[in-house]
Amino acid sequence: MSEGDTILQVRGLTKHFVARGGLLGRETGRVRAVDGLDLDVRRGETLGLVGESGCGKSTTGRLILRLIEPDEGSVRFEGRDIVAGSQADMRLLRRDMQFVFQDPYASLNPRLSVGEIVEEPLIVHGVGSPGERRERIATTLRRVGIRPELMGRYPHEFSGGQRQRIGIARALVLGPKLIIADEPLSALDVSVQASVMNLMQEIQEEFGISFILIAHDLAAVEHMSHQVAVMYLGRIVEVAPAEELYAAPKHPYTQILLQSVPPLDPHLPRSWPRIEGEVPSPMRPPSGCPFHPRCPARMAVCSVERPPLQALPGGRRVACHLYDAEGSTEAGVN
Ligand code: SF4
Repeated sequence: MSEGDTILQVRGLTKHFVARGGLLGRETGRVRAVDGLDLDVRRGETLGLVGESGCGKSTTGRLILRLIEPDEGSVRFEGRDIVAGSQADMRLLRRDMQFVFQDPYASLNPRLSVGEIVEEPLIVHGVGSPGERRERIATTLRRVGIRPELMGRYPHEFSGGQRQRIGIARALVLGPKLIIADEPLSALDVSVQASVMNLMQEIQEEFGISFILIAHDLAAVEHMSHQVAVMYLGRIVEVAPAEELYAAPKHPYTQILLQSVPPLDPHLPRSWPRIEGEVPSPMRPPSGCPFHPRCPARMAVCSVERPPLQALPGGRRVACHLYDAEGSTEAGVN
């Protein structure tokens, strides 16, 4: 991937939360929510970010936008390091980077009309006169399938799918280059999920917007993503073009995750191994490869050495000792 193709580059992103307990609220440990994460998002494409609940994917989205401050690491948006910038720099960048929240019920202020909700980012960023803003709100609402004449109504007067469209309009109104959508479909009825997915794909094609789609619905991620990154205990364990990852997952954890998805192609193999044990606590991640206590393919080295995320032929990257030789072969070529 050339530098010009990459709109967002994340390296070594880390966030450990302090856990407290007892009457005095003393520190009892550190939750390694995100633990040295690397990822790249290409311009005009969607990166799907998947993993079990608690793997750190939602925290990752918030860290990228600095809604939470990272402990370590760099986040470069169009070459500019967001983490090193001031909050004032970040405010400017938020025009280009927007967030769509999971819950369209909780994320829209019930006391504001739809027009006021979509206007808010324009006011914050000092965009346009009242008349120009109204015109822009109407255009944006129309684009997401909400009739502009309804802009005086309140969120409770809309269905779940319509509210998520309003959430997308709020993200879209400033003309962003990147939208991070955190489980945008999970609170919606199955019957409206497809129409919201189609809307996101349409606006991507029309405006060239890049998306990070955070989701546990692997079928939706496959449908919408160009690249897919799989997270486990705060790190990426595999990232690959979506078609390749779903057709031939390499990391044992990815194989097991995908086993739970009904295959679109009934001829795909279904003989992947079953997952063992519970997800370890992010306060006490296992030594070596954090997946080793549950991995059916583990070897002696796995409990001792943490495998790096290494490049394999074909643009895939995997953090697993099973591919050490392949990875080092490609590293030699590069
Ligand atoms: Fe399994 Fe070892 Fe690979 Fe980890 S490094 S996924 S334990 S084979």
